[in-house]
Amino acid sequence: MFSTFSAARFSGAAVLLLVTFSAPTLGWSHELSQQERDAAAAKFVAQSLQTWQDRMNLKNWNIQVQLVRTGQLEPKTLGNIHWDTDRKTATISVLSPEDYKLPFQAMLDDMEFTIVHELVHLELASLPRSDASRRVEEHAVNEIATALLKLARHQ
Ligand SMILES: [Zn+2]
Repeated sequence: MFSTFSAARFSGAAVLLLVTFSAPTLGWSHELSQQERDAAAAKFVAQSLQTWQDRMNLKNWNIQVQLVRTGQLEPKTLGNIHWDTDRKTATISVLSPEDYKLPFQAMLDDMEFTIVHELVHLELASLPRSDASRRVEEHAVNEIATALLKLARHQ
């Protein structure tokens, strides 16, 4: 039986962070070109997926990650995951650097959060799901992803 489910990552925190990104770039820092940001982000999300897929013991899944523009995501979301539990394939979409308004490192940190968040959804993929449970799941997924990243970053 073919089944697929989509889970989107909504974030209120990113909206707050956008406000802080208005300071001009300081003279001593190297400002990355858009092309450099895109290439570095693509490399980072691929590496990040590998690290977390391994940590979360999801090695029997074939998971891809792609950077997508705002128009390819649901409004006010930063990423999503689509999976097929029978074929054990999944695709994680992460907002492209071209549409991120955060400083570079903050953007990479946020992208890593999206990947961990979507992988937690994947861990829960076999649980029964209803419209009512989705909101509760979203909260639980955020809490778990936050805790995992705090551990990984020794915070
Ligand atoms: Zn979610």
